[in-house]
Amino acid sequence: MYHISDVKKYLRCPKLFWLSEREEALPFNSYVRLDEAVTTLACEKLEIKEHFLGTRGDDPQKTLDAMKEMDWIVKGRFEYKQLRVKIPFLHRNGDVWDVYFLFCGNRPKDDDMNFYCASTWVLKMNKIPLGEFRVLHFDENYVRGDKLSAQELFKITSMFYNDKGNPSKEIKETIQKRMRNLEETLNNMDEVLKLDNVECTRQNKCTKKNKCRFYETCFPDEAQIPNDSILTLVSSQYKYEMFEDGVDSLKDAIPEKIEGSRQQYAQIMASKMGGLYVDEISLRTWMKKIKMPITFLDFEWETYAIPPYKGMKPYDVLPFEYSIHILHEDGEIEHKEYLGTKDCRLKLVENLISDIPSTGTLIAFNAEGAEKIRLKEMAAQFPQYAKNLMDLYTRMMDLSFPFALGTVYDVRMRGYYSLKVIMSFMENQTGYHDLDIHQGMDAVFQWRLLDKEIDEVDPDEIREHLSAYCSMDTYAMVVVFNWLKSLLKKSDN
Ligand code: SF4
Repeated sequence: MYHISDVKKYLRCPKLFWLSEREEALPFNSYVRLDEAVTTLACEKLEIKEHFLGTRGDDPQKTLDAMKEMDWIVKGRFEYKQLRVKIPFLHRNGDVWDVYFLFCGNRPKDDDMNFYCASTWVLKMNKIPLGEFRVLHFDENYVRGDKLSAQELFKITSMFYNDKGNPSKEIKETIQKRMRNLEETLNNMDEVLKLDNVECTRQNKCTKKNKCRFYETCFPDEAQIPNDSILTLVSSQYKYEMFEDGVDSLKDAIPEKIEGSRQQYAQIMASKMGGLYVDEISLRTWMKKIKMPITFLDFEWETYAIPPYKGMKPYDVLPFEYSIHILHEDGEIEHKEYLGTKDCRLKLVENLISDIPSTGTLIAFNAEGAEKIRLKEMAAQFPQYAKNLMDLYTRMMDLSFPFALGTVYDVRMRGYYSLKVIMSFMENQTGYHDLDIHQGMDAVFQWRLLDKEIDEVDPDEIREHLSAYCSMDTYAMVVVFNWLKSLLKKSDN
């Protein structure tokens, strides 16, 4: 039996589908927290009283039988040619059935058409007469009061939204236009599974958006490639083509086959200059804006699909921890931190304001994409502290800029721009490998155990690990900042 996720994997890459079928299923841990029974809330929104509720492993015939008696079918299972789908809601409307999909996000777009089209195709092949198509989704403007309101939390739409957030395409019409017969695809999937191996070559799809989780399995020799291999070229459409054509090193990149971004320029120059490229004028200009004392700040936060506390909106985040390292004029380094559980937002804000010096620059790595946004969100949620928080916001600079803008590139970064990667080649430094938590999401998963007060876990141990991880982030910023400074000193000598 296949699910839509299998079809999606196959369509992305047959080898991905083949490998997924052979691996043991891992427990799924979502990066978004969804504690509430979302189907129950959606039933409330749709004012469903009596209904048939499908469950995992149901024989699809059970759903078809229920459709003879009931007007609402919730989570009904349907199957055709081994493809099994779960339809969130079907509602009898005269001689036809209206379909309600459930999108646990703020604005459904037409970027997951494989899901909508495959679901509809299976319904059609089961000869179910279909009427209107709608999607239930969260209302991004809903602000939770004391209680959660299902009526206000959801919106119902018959249109997909575009990137600007406006309704743009009829859902029903788009599905009808894009729906394909999947029989051939399903037959091909059967054939692929019979193979002992599936040949593959490196392609853009292997690293596009998110690097494929099987990348190291498919290309085990990748770890051995030199630091300045052409394969490390970022945002490159033609790097695999150049590699196949015999171009090994960044310095030999074919000019007509590079996009010419500043990052690419820095990479190629680093390869030509023995491993390191520094745009000194640009780095010096960036450094001049920084005022002492410097506060390096890092937040950890949880993302909630459904707002758990008053004043929060769908997909709001709740910062639960921060670490700061303060670098004083005399070189002394001070460390402060906060870690809370449940609704600790106000306490975190108050501590943050009192912990950070009233003057000097704040620095975060990827500040524009994270810490600055968090400060703005907290300012909106706690207007009594908005002025203080926006003051921190205006004093904040982004340590990732010199790397992201191609001001500095070291070939040991191998095309990656994270703090962990840069820290990994700083000499004489303890690094992330010494920690029990290695990734931001591991920290969130650990905090969930603490927040949910799970009996089996030791809260003190989790607190210790979380504190070590968040502190490492700000400590690493101090190290990387000092390294950038040292690059300028070297050229001054
Ligand atoms: S790394 Fe590339 S070839 Fe291998 S499974 Fe993933 S997408 Fe397919």
